[in-house]
Amino acid sequence: MSDSQPGYRNQGRARTLMRLVGVIAMAAALTMIVLAVADFFSAFSSDEFGAQPTKFWLFLLALPFFLVGAFCLNAGFLGAGARYAAGEVAPTARTTMGYLGLGAEVATCPQCGADTGPDAKFCDDCGSPLSKTCPSCAADNEGDARFCAGCGVGLT
Ligand SMILES: [Zn+2]
Ligand SMILES: [Zn+2]
Repeated sequence: MSDSQPGYRNQGRARTLMRLVGVIAMAAALTMIVLAVADFFSAFSSDEFGAQPTKFWLFLLALPFFLVGAFCLNAGFLGAGARYAAGEVAPTARTTMGYLGLGAEVATCPQCGADTGPDAKFCDDCGSPLSKTCPSCAADNEGDARFCAGCGVGLT
């Protein structure tokens, strides 16, 4: 597990950077939009006939900032957060389960993903075989194994 530690640290730093860039880009985009809207309305409420909003280009300029900001905020707060949590929690949970003697014997159907009983030979959800007995050496293999783990013979 030690080889995955730097990955998590880089991920955390990238997430912080994403949040920072996202917040700055969002703030810039919102400022530009507010300026453009204010200019738009002041031009139309003006008594002067033919007054045109002159800062409409700010909308166009704000758009890429808005998209970048939205992307960074999403990646920084949701996407990376969820991935980080999944990467952090899943192995820990599995290890804990292993220590407690749980999980090791709980099989998951390779076809439909349903949890099956520890001694089940077939999935009770879709009927797929959960283990393959090697015709050559009689070793027990996973239901989706293509080759025998015991002797390497091809399994069908
Ligand atoms: Zn199944
Ligand atoms: Zn075999």
